[in-house]
Amino acid sequence: MHDPSKSRRLFLAGGAAGLGAAIAGGRAAAQADRGPVPTGPVGRPEPKLEEEPPLSLDRQLGWAVVGLGDYAQGYVLPALARARRSRAVALVSGNPEKAKRVAARYGVGENALYGYDTMDRLAGNDAVGVVYIVTANATHAELTVKAFEAGKHVFCEKPMANSPAECQRMIDAAKAAGRKLMIAYRAHWEPHNLRAKAMLDSGALGQIWFASSDHHRPLDPSLPRDQWRMKRDVAGGGSLVDIGIYSLNGLQWFLGESPNAVAATMQAPPGDPRFAEVENVFSAELAFPSGRRATISSGYTASKKRIDLWGDRLVATLDPATAYQGNRLVVSNAKKAEEILTEETSAAQFTGEIDHFSQAVTEGTEVRTPGEMGLRDVRLIEALYRAARERRWLDLNPDMTVREA
Ligand code: NDP
Repeated sequence: MHDPSKSRRLFLAGGAAGLGAAIAGGRAAAQADRGPVPTGPVGRPEPKLEEEPPLSLDRQLGWAVVGLGDYAQGYVLPALARARRSRAVALVSGNPEKAKRVAARYGVGENALYGYDTMDRLAGNDAVGVVYIVTANATHAELTVKAFEAGKHVFCEKPMANSPAECQRMIDAAKAAGRKLMIAYRAHWEPHNLRAKAMLDSGALGQIWFASSDHHRPLDPSLPRDQWRMKRDVAGGGSLVDIGIYSLNGLQWFLGESPNAVAATMQAPPGDPRFAEVENVFSAELAFPSGRRATISSGYTASKKRIDLWGDRLVATLDPATAYQGNRLVVSNAKKAEEILTEETSAAQFTGEIDHFSQAVTEGTEVRTPGEMGLRDVRLIEALYRAARERRWLDLNPDMTVREA
């Protein structure tokens, strides 16, 4: 239900006039409240809500969720149930029995369940406006193209796909269909990240010459969600593509620029079957056109999701930066450390990105994290792997392709 673009401060919006109206309205309400309080059951005036209520069902955009794995069931479907402008109306899965159980849980009709091989039938379901791809990485491109062929808009999980060519195919399919494509970079709607970005942009952190970000989480081969992540041809790579991408996307967002040179190393402990095909640790140094530098690291053994923006006035530390919940922002210098925004919850990021896309589709506005951003990041990932393999600095063009010597 929460729409971060119109936060709870919404009711104080509108400058002095808005504030005056709010105060006048408040007085009237207080007057009404002073009447006799009925003792029996009786209707009362509309309550004042802290957050905007959901749109009526006929004004919400219908979403089809493709792939009913860990993230779809743990976060995507619950977020759609809370969303203001969006709701789940169809499911696509390779496991029909699971799909039926999930459908019953979320009030999706059995006539709106599809398999990967019957996704073309989505074309005949007018209740579906958006298709959300939440499957293993290697399948993103193929399923996105199918959804565009069915005439739907597409919201696709990160990483966008396993190669720049696949990303380009998805962008071309969106253009051919005249539909929108957005990549699910949820941190762009996470309140602590937004506050850090606002502090940086306002100059509150001072001059920033360095930034760093570290994303690590243990890979557990006993979990189905981690089994395909150990396979290079399905996952597209190791910790860098899975969680290092948060560092790459986040640093480019915060700094407002993309690197023009990169150097990198990677590591896979010998004898550990988890890392027979994909890397464990990936670390890289990024140089930016402004002269700034950044380091990133990702890994599949420790637990940490952190971003530091090293200003000469204040250092902003997001730790965790990109967790599902409980993100924190601390700003510090030699004299003090202050935690910012302690009362905001990180749950806003899930409904925020979903409702942003529904709004863009219904109102024809631009999306904040489009397919082109996904392509940029997949190109950067490709360049980083090459830099690690070739053990040298690589210069990058503005579109993140490698500048050949
Ligand atoms: P899971 O393995 O839990 O779920 C993936 C689902 O994809 C499966 O359950 C299956 O759905 C479907 N699928 C289709 N083809 C394959 C295949 N060849 N191998 C495995 N699964 C397949 O993974 P996650 O939910 O963790 O990840 C799904 C996607 O979401 C990934 O792209 C991941 O990067 C992204 N993700 C994003 C997060 C975020 O914070 N934005 C967090 C976690 C993941 P079914 O059984 O219904 O057919």
